[in-house]
Amino acid sequence: MTREDFSEIGHTGGKVTFTIVCNEDGHLQYKIGYSHSSRLPASLVGIYAHPDGFACGNIVMGGIGDPWNPPPFPNCIAVMMASDSQGKFGHECPNCKKHFRSESIPSRFPLTCPYCGVRVDSYHFLTPPQKSYISHYIESLHAAIYEAEPGSTREVVIDMDVLADSISDESRPDFYYTSIAQQTEFRCSACNSYNDIRGRYGYCSSCGWRNAAELQRVALEKIRERLVSGELSPSDVVKQSVSEFDSTARNYVDQLITRVPMKESRKNQLRGLLFHNLDKFEKLLANCLDIDLLHGMSANRTFVKKMFCRRHVYEHDGGVATQRYVEKSGDVDLAKGDLIRETAENAHKLIDCLNRMISTFESDFQELFEPEAFCIEIENERRKRVRMRNA
Ligand SMILES: [Zn+2]
Ligand SMILES: [Zn+2]
Repeated sequence: MTREDFSEIGHTGGKVTFTIVCNEDGHLQYKIGYSHSSRLPASLVGIYAHPDGFACGNIVMGGIGDPWNPPPFPNCIAVMMASDSQGKFGHECPNCKKHFRSESIPSRFPLTCPYCGVRVDSYHFLTPPQKSYISHYIESLHAAIYEAEPGSTREVVIDMDVLADSISDESRPDFYYTSIAQQTEFRCSACNSYNDIRGRYGYCSSCGWRNAAELQRVALEKIRERLVSGELSPSDVVKQSVSEFDSTARNYVDQLITRVPMKESRKNQLRGLLFHNLDKFEKLLANCLDIDLLHGMSANRTFVKKMFCRRHVYEHDGGVATQRYVEKSGDVDLAKGDLIRETAENAHKLIDCLNRMISTFESDFQELFEPEAFCIEIENERRKRVRMRNA
């Protein structure tokens, strides 16, 4: 199913009910309930709100009967918030203000912004309409408490079902929060969490693992399939694979430039880095950032270098070996003017090498920007159970 970028996804609906009991002495007690009756997917999270109407903490809702974590301030109110109609939640980064979606407003671990990488408690990522919902919720509760008569029981309902069914743009109250579909949906290769982000590359919002290397592995496997089926020639595979590697490696470098404090001159050196020239980028990354892209690959170094030079020839010289190619590539079998006959074997081997290089980049990068262990441990446990079941 194709979906439209930035289309709106409605709220899942449901009703929040406040029951306020005021005894004969004027002593007040209230209960908050949530019910959901539609067939739409829904998940529910709890946020602590300050009596003044702003979010101030996440509620860790364990199993039935488990006590919640204490609120950060006395008199905080527990706000129940339901997902969008796909069971997901929209978020807005408090730092870069960009939007994304994930499966939860998590309470046991912080959220990481897919774009700028900032990592803080998830209630800091509430969108403006979600914040309006929280203040509407607190106001409704306060109004009901204010009007309670001694000896009475009163119910006040915030009905998101009625709103979800009837709303047009003009009559929409600002607390009816929806979410906005982004451009790339992916499941994290490290923790398996769902993400929906703008653009293509980003961090997993749950664990902070960057998706770029995994996207390359997937793209190169597709290229490999097209080589096997005869749809792509080996030289086209060389061109496309190197270009895929180039944009992935560039993406990691851009993050390093943005997130690692460094002098302007070093930033400029890295910005000007070309991933076509193996000797240059290998040396620069090793010197600047202690990243060794060809770690453990000394046996394939000459091969990778030759293939990068061939890519240049396929791209710019019609596949005919130039003087420059003969000098730089270390390829002793060809003379200037020869047509390079690329083999499928070389193309396969290049894909393996590029994947290995990007995996090295990926793990060195994540060593600098450590992922959130909680989500990855849960996923590793899950994978272990699956393996045991299938064994
Ligand atoms: Zn951000
Ligand atoms: Zn993840």
